[in-house]
Formats: sequence, structure tokens, C-alpha cells
Amino acid sequence: MGAINLQNPTARFSAIKDKKLSIDATRGKPSMQQVALSDGILAAPPHHEIEAYQAKTGIDILNYGGNDGLPEMKNIFAEILDISPGDVIVGGNSSLNMMFDAVATMILSGLWVQGKSKILCPSPGYDRHFAICQYLDLPMITIPMTPNGPDMDMVEELARDPDVAGMWCVPVFSNPQGHVYSDETIRRLAAMPTANPHFKLLWDNAYSVHHFQGARPAPVNILPECDKHGHPGRPIIFTSFAKISVPGACVVCMAAAKPTVDVLRKRLLAQTIGPDKINQFQHINFFKNLQGVQAHMEKHAAILRPKFELVNEMFSKYLPEAGATFTSPDGGYFVSVETPPGHAKKVVAKCKEAGVLITDAGATFPYGKDPFDSNIRFAPSFLSMDELEQAAEVFCLAVLTA
Ligand code: PLP
Repeated sequence: MGAINLQNPTARFSAIKDKKLSIDATRGKPSMQQVALSDGILAAPPHHEIEAYQAKTGIDILNYGGNDGLPEMKNIFAEILDISPGDVIVGGNSSLNMMFDAVATMILSGLWVQGKSKILCPSPGYDRHFAICQYLDLPMITIPMTPNGPDMDMVEELARDPDVAGMWCVPVFSNPQGHVYSDETIRRLAAMPTANPHFKLLWDNAYSVHHFQGARPAPVNILPECDKHGHPGRPIIFTSFAKISVPGACVVCMAAAKPTVDVLRKRLLAQTIGPDKINQFQHINFFKNLQGVQAHMEKHAAILRPKFELVNEMFSKYLPEAGATFTSPDGGYFVSVETPPGHAKKVVAKCKEAGVLITDAGATFPYGKDPFDSNIRFAPSFLSMDELEQAAEVFCLAVLTA
């Protein structure tokens, strides 16, 4: 690892610029090595296996039908989320697609109103959640994040406003910090009174099995917790195989209890005549159950762990010198950096000057506006170890010289 001369980071930065690097560290994508772990899914299932499945279950996966998913796929999602398979609706391709649909369904079914229904957005957060609200004209309210989850005093206060209709949550390994909501936070979200009877928690559990250090987090289960407090329809849960199998060609799900799941199913019946059951079948055969998923995720963890360790080592050495702080998550896909206020945009621009693309500063806030211009999302997963080392060094130099 090239040591940075803290006495003269400017000289080192100029030298690196001369290398004309071209490294894209903007999005949290799994590396090719990770995706290759699921090569077994790419082979088309032999016809005799499809026929055997049909003989056993009566379901023809080569034809229409089975709108909300194959039973075995629902079972795998139910095991991952620790919920009932009856609450699961399986989808294909991208969980963001289902999130967009769920939000649009709230509007189309008259429960939320465009231009009026406000959505609470813990931030720094996931830019694509915010893009859905912006596109569908749902005003967003920024909620500060803490290591235990969103600022709950503020959430409870705002929930008294009848126009506050929902909230984005990434309860495990939040994007970008990698924080896990505390049990207290989850209990308060489940129990709090809301003035809007159609208030929904958009519970994006994208990183539920994505730990690369320590044990799998086991936070309080939101569905039974909401039920206990008389709010069974409050959460709409999402999860995805995007970072388990093949991003963009995977299986995903949304899940909810009554009455919410009925609203979502009704829309699905009007929307489609059936999902891609071949892909579900391939996932079922490849992963089989939660144990299969977890064994597979250990292989992902082995690839991701050294990358996050490298970033942690570099950032620990150099960022405190510049008054910047950063997270050291045990899972998920990102490291969140806080520069001193007013410096994030400058750092990202400097990285670009040196050939390293980082997610735009501000992207982690609603409307792309970080009130302090201090948060930056760093994504180590996609790069090779060599590229990552160079990108991390450029990043540290950019922070030191900005
Ligand atoms: N949710 C979160 C919190 C994410 O960070 C990501 C990807 O970065 C996704 C969802 C995307 O999932 P999918 O590919 O299933 O749309």
C-alpha cells in the first residue's frame, strides 16, 4: 500500500493525477467475481426437471399464471424475512421496481395524494428511494440518521401531521452508513401513533443476509411488532437477490400483512398475467432454502471483507488528519464519510480530477441537497483490490488537500 506523505499530500496528489487513472467507484455493484458465484443459475433448467416439477405441484412454469410467485420461492423469502409465506409477493428483476409499484399503488388507490402526502427520508440515505418520491411528486422530509437508526423523536413528532404518509427505512446495513436499526428504534416505529391512517413504513431490507463480519444481525421483526401495536398494515417489506445472485436478473419480493397485502395483490392481478417463473425455478434449485442462501453469502463475504478492511485501514490512517469521520460497517455495500462541512463537493470534484469517480456529493439527501455539504458515499465492492487501493488513496488525498 503506497504510504501518503502527510507533510506533502499536494505533491503526491499531483503525481497520482499524472497517472491518468480511470476508476469508477460510483455505485455499489457486486464485482464480476461475486456475480460469477451464481453461474449455476445461468444454465437453463432441463425440460425433464420442469416436467417433474409440474407433475409434483401442478404448476406449469412454462406458461402464464402464478402471479405472486412459486410457493418454494415464497418460502425462501419467508425464511429470509422470518414472516409467513402468505404475506409474500415475489417479483423479478429489481426490488426498486416493486418499491416504485408499491408507492404508485398507494397513490392510485387513493390512499396517498401527489403533491401532498409527505414521505420521511432518513438521510444520508439511498438516492433511488428519493428519486421515486421526486418522480411521483411526494414531498420529502429529511430525517437525521444516528447509528441506531433515524432520529425517532423527530419521526414521532412529524407523524402527528396527517399529511405525513410514509417513511423509507433500510433497517439493516443502511445505505450508505451500514448502520443497523436498534430494537428500540424498530419498536418505536411500530408503536408510534400516526395521524395518517394510511401511514406506511417502506421497509427496504435489501441487506438482510449481507454481513461480512460477525453474525447476521437479528433486529426486532417489524411485521409482528406492528401487529402487536394494532398496526398490521403499516410495513411494506422489500428484499432482493440483486446482491445474492445476479443484479438486474434476479428475484425480489415485497411482503405485507392484511389489509396492505390485499391492496398490493389487487394491483398485481391487473398489472401482469404472470412473472418469470423460469428464473424463480432456477433460484429455487440453486439456493433451495435459507441455509443455501447463507452458505452462498459466506462466499460473497470472503470477497467483500478484504475490500472493506483495506478501505478501513486507509481511511483510519488519513481521514482523521483532515477532520473527516467515516463508518466501518459489518455488512452492506458502502462506507459513509463525513468531511468537515462545506467540503464534500470539493472532494468529489478532486477525485474526478484524478480519474476516480465517486457518487455525487448530495446524492444521499432528498432533492440532492446535503444541508452541510459533508456526506460522501464510498463504494468498495466493484473494484479489484489494486483499483480499490488507488481509489482509496486518491480519496484520502482529495480529503487532505480539499
Ligand atoms: N435497496 C437498497 C437499500 C440498495 O442499496 C439497493 C442497491 O444498491 C437496492 C435496493 C437495489 O435493489 P434492486 O437491484 O433489487 O432494485
